[in-house]
Amino acid sequence: MAEVKRFETDVAIIGSGGAGLAAGIEARDAGARAIAFEMASEFGGAAITSGGGCMIVGTPLQKEKGIEDNPDLAFDDWVKWGGPSVDKVWARYYIEHSLHDLYHWAEGLGVKWVDMKTQEGNSVMRWTRAERSGLGLTTHMIDGFRGRGGEMVANTEITGIKFDDQRVTGIEGINTETGAAVDVAAKAVVVSTGGFNSNLDMILEARPDLCGDKILEGSGPGSTGSGHKLVRRVGGQLTHMDHVWFYAYSTPDYRDPNQRRGLVCRQIPGYIWVNQQGRRFHNEALSGGNSASPALLAQTPRHCWAIVDTPMKAGLEVADPYYRDGAKVNREKIEELLADSPFIKKADTLAGLAEEIGVAVPTFVATLERYNQACRQGLEEEPEFGKPLKSSKPFDTPPYYAIQFFPLARKNFGGIKTDLECRVLDKHFEPIQGLYAAGEACGMAGGHINGSAGLEGTMLGPSIFSGRVAGGWAAREAGHGDGFVGKANRG
Ligand SMILES: Cc1cc2nc3c(=O)[nH]c(=O)nc-3n(C[C@H](O)[C@H](O)[C@H](O)COP(=O)(O)OP(=O)(O)OC[C@H]3O[C@@H](n4cnc5c(N)ncnc54)[C@H](O)[C@@H]3O)c2cc1C
Repeated sequence: MAEVKRFETDVAIIGSGGAGLAAGIEARDAGARAIAFEMASEFGGAAITSGGGCMIVGTPLQKEKGIEDNPDLAFDDWVKWGGPSVDKVWARYYIEHSLHDLYHWAEGLGVKWVDMKTQEGNSVMRWTRAERSGLGLTTHMIDGFRGRGGEMVANTEITGIKFDDQRVTGIEGINTETGAAVDVAAKAVVVSTGGFNSNLDMILEARPDLCGDKILEGSGPGSTGSGHKLVRRVGGQLTHMDHVWFYAYSTPDYRDPNQRRGLVCRQIPGYIWVNQQGRRFHNEALSGGNSASPALLAQTPRHCWAIVDTPMKAGLEVADPYYRDGAKVNREKIEELLADSPFIKKADTLAGLAEEIGVAVPTFVATLERYNQACRQGLEEEPEFGKPLKSSKPFDTPPYYAIQFFPLARKNFGGIKTDLECRVLDKHFEPIQGLYAAGEACGMAGGHINGSAGLEGTMLGPSIFSGRVAGGWAAREAGHGDGFVGKANRG
């Protein structure tokens, strides 16, 4: 008989990303015992590799820069961007609490908020980054959870939620190293397993309109949608699953044995994107998920070629640890990618490049010539799509490169449906006793807080916030504390 490793706790948490850690900290602060189970060998999920930027309203950093912001303005921006499917109650809840219950709360864990960035769709700057990005933010949360006596168990994939007499009684799983069964008795369970954008089958199930196109997996390796399946099996509802958020600037990772993952290519100043008809189709300076991605998805076929000449190539960065030495870009590995990837073509002339990528030579050359002319004329913007030319130059230095970009599924704005206490709801909109969910597994919070588009920073922030809410109410169900209360921004 194989060994069974048994645990007993008040709150069992599935996943150790931003939401799971926040749930654990909150549960411990309420006096409940809490254990986080993580299937990977390392803790932190997608949160630890993230940009660490959160949309926060009314911060000291904004005040220092003389930026006037308030929850009403942020809410208007949020709803305009996310469209009719925004969960307005959850959006309000997050926005109204982001200052105290995220910014200052995280400071209490040792997080330092260091700078801000303008992001598309916001009327003022409010994307706020933690020192050392997602690594800094999440490391402080891991330390905060452990420092409060929270337990973390790695290499443990949870494969079932135990259900008895109309309520959840624990979870079960497997130690992925030893194969030993894991059995957990718990008074409440928090599902914080992240999204499903590293599971192409689930992406295409949610977006059948994209079957037949090449779509790249682009979230953390643990974002396989396992929590969605666990919750479904005990009667929980999923909602807005088609709200998959894509980015446009990604080329296939040719080293991936499954040929499914994408590499995010950033920071190529001055490059342009050309479709398979040899034409530009977008202002490349607007590279966000609500502008560039719909533009790319509207092309036939749904891919494009990022065109780069030799000086521009020097700015290419790939957001993947293989292509970096810590904070530094590893240029040798970038050269290896340019030389070896079957999705990157090279030629000594623009006409030759067009032939390499199978695009009509006269159209392609004319597209490049029009763009070059705008650069040579010293225009502020090129006239076709309004791209600012400040960091641009003509394509004039061979060899030229064409990097093939496909839509990269990065974030999930739909998922497990919960109420405002993060209780998982069944098909009658009744809470399932003892079962809570938070973070990207719930489309960041509640099921669809962002609607169909997010303002950036509206993934990590709401994931952490909803994690806190879930942890507080799960602890209460386990007999500890009064549930999550928090402090409103203008309270
Ligand atoms: C490269 C990148 C950069 C990003 N940058 C930003 C940013 O700057 N700002 C922003 O707002 N958002 C950003 N995001 C999105 C943000 O990181 C996620 O939305 C956020 O981390 C979600 O938190 P989470 O805890 O719900 O999920 P995750 O952080 O993904 O954690 C889920 C954890 O659950 C584990 N897990 C899954 N299934 C099981 C199971 N069955 N058993 C045990 N463990 C399991 C996973 O291994 C993982 O560790 C970024 C995402 C990526 C991929």
